[in-house]
Amino acid sequence: MTQTARGSAAENPGTVLSEESAEAGRFESIDPRTGETVGTHPIHEHGAVRRAVETARSGQRWWEELGFAGRKRRLDAWRRLLVARLDEAAELISAETGKPLDDARLELVLVVDHLHWAAANAPKVLGRRRVSPGVLMANQAAAVEYRPFGVVGVIGPWNYPAFTPMGSIAYALAAGNAVVFKPSELTPGVGEWLASTFAEVVPEHPLLQVVTGFGETGAALCRAGADKLAFTGSTETGKRVMATCSESLTPVLVECGGKDALIVDSDADLHAAAEAAAWGAISNAGQTCIGVERVYVVDSVADRFVRLVADRVEKLRPGEQSTADLGPITMSSQVDVIREHIAEGTRRGGTAVVGDEDSVRPPYVDPVVLTDVPEDSAAVTEETFGPTIVINRVRTADEGIERANAGSYGLGGTVFSRARGTELARRMRSGMVAVNSVISFAAVPALPFGGVGDSGFGRIHGADGLREFTRAQAVTRTRFPMPLNPMSFGRSGRTVRRLVALMRLVRGR
Ligand code: NDP
Repeated sequence: MTQTARGSAAENPGTVLSEESAEAGRFESIDPRTGETVGTHPIHEHGAVRRAVETARSGQRWWEELGFAGRKRRLDAWRRLLVARLDEAAELISAETGKPLDDARLELVLVVDHLHWAAANAPKVLGRRRVSPGVLMANQAAAVEYRPFGVVGVIGPWNYPAFTPMGSIAYALAAGNAVVFKPSELTPGVGEWLASTFAEVVPEHPLLQVVTGFGETGAALCRAGADKLAFTGSTETGKRVMATCSESLTPVLVECGGKDALIVDSDADLHAAAEAAAWGAISNAGQTCIGVERVYVVDSVADRFVRLVADRVEKLRPGEQSTADLGPITMSSQVDVIREHIAEGTRRGGTAVVGDEDSVRPPYVDPVVLTDVPEDSAAVTEETFGPTIVINRVRTADEGIERANAGSYGLGGTVFSRARGTELARRMRSGMVAVNSVISFAAVPALPFGGVGDSGFGRIHGADGLREFTRAQAVTRTRFPMPLNPMSFGRSGRTVRRLVALMRLVRGR
C-alpha cells in the first residue's frame, strides 16, 4: 500500500484540514479480511463540515466560470490520472472492502468511463439552447440553460466506494458544482484518495473535499448549507437524510437499496440466464444494490435452470486472497441479517439447494441458493445484501413480473426471454432493466440510474444525472414590441378579446 493510500487526512490534499477543536478524535478503517488497520481518519464535526461547504462555495464560482471546455480539460486530466493509478486505487478499495482486486479494478473502469461521459456531454445536455417562444410570445427569444446549484453534498455507501459516489461527484463537477463528500465510515480512505487525486490536477481551489466520520458527520453535511444533497445508502438512512434536509428545504437525491428480481421465461437461453443469476447474486459477495436477490423462473424450465445455477454457484469460494471469487461481508452487522434470511427461508419450507445456515462463517459467507421460499418471508421481501439467491417457480413470465412488482423496492431488474424481453422489461416497476444480460445498464454512461418506491428517487448518470445537479433557468428576451400586449394597464378593451379569438382559432380545434 502506498503512503497516500494509507495516509491520514492531514497528509491528503482535498481533505478538510480541520483545526484541533473541530475534530472529535480519529477513527480507523479496517480490512474486513484481516482486521488490520488500513488508515486512520479524523471525525469531522459540524463546524468543520460547515467550513468545508463555505470553502467549496468560494472556489465554485471560479469552477463555473471556467466553462464546459475548461472543466472538461481538468476532468479529463483527472481521468487520465485515475487510469494511471488505477492499481493503487484498486488496492485501497480491496483493503477497505475486502473485495477481490479484479472486482475493484472493474469498479474503477466504470468510474473512468462515466467521468469521461459526464465531461464530454455536459455542454450538449446543459448548455444554453433556444426554444420556440410559442404563439402567444412570438416577439420573445426564449432560451433554457442548466446552471449549477453551487455546492453539492454527497453521502456515499461502502459497497462500491468509488463507483457509487462518483455517479454523483463526476456529474456534479461536470455541471459546474463544487462537492463536499462524506464517504462511509468503512471506506474513508477511498474518499480521501479521490479528493487528493482531484486536487493534484485542480490545485487552484478545493472543489472536491472529503469530510470523514460516522452518521453524525453525514447529518452535519445535511445541515451545512449545501445547495443539494445526493445520498446513496440504505432506505432507512435515506429517510433520515430527507428529514434532516427538510429543515432547510435542501433538495435531495436519494438512491437507496433494492430487492432486484430476475425473470426467466420458458424460451430463455438458460445457460446465459444461469450465468447472469450467479454473477448478479454472488459477485461482490452479494453486496450490490442492483444485485440479483430473487429469481422467478417459469415452471417448465425451472428444474434445469436451478441445476445450472447450482453447478456454477457451488464452485465459488470466498476468501482473503486477491484472486478469490468473492470477498468477505464488509459490514459485520449484515452477517446476522444474512443468517436470519437463510434460516427463516428454510424454516418456512424453502429448500437449500446450495449451502445452508452453516455457510455463514464470518467474515465470509459461502454462496447459498434457496428455492421455493414463501413470498412473504424476509429472504424475498427484504434486502439480504449477501451471496444468497432465492429461486421461486411461476406459471408464466407474467406472474414473475407481478411478483417482482409486489415488493416495496424498485431499483433494477433483469429479464431473460427470447420473444418477450422488451415487453416484459417495460412492465417492471423499476428504474432500470437489463434484457438477456445482467447489471449492464450501470455500465452505459448515457443511461439514467435510480429507482422508485423504497429504492428512492432522482437519477444519477446520463443526461438526467447531469441535470440532477443543476437548476433549469428560463430566459426570455424581447425582440420587438408586442402588437397585442395584454399584460399592460395600457391595453385597450379589444386586446384580450382579440387574443381569445386567436386562441379559439388555433387552440380551440
Ligand atoms: P447506510 O445507509 O448505512 O449509510 C450510507 C451513508 O450514510 C454512509 O456514509 C453513512 O455514514 C451515512 N449516514 C448514516 N447515518 C446518517 C445520517 N443520520 N445522516 C446522514 N448520513 C448518514 O448504507 P451503507 O453504507 O450500509 O450502504 C449499503 C446500502 O446502500 C444498501 O442498502 C445498498 O442497497 C445501498 N446502495 C444503493 C445504491 C443505489 O445506487 N441505489 C448503490 C449502492 C448501495 P456511516 O457509514 O459513517 O454510518
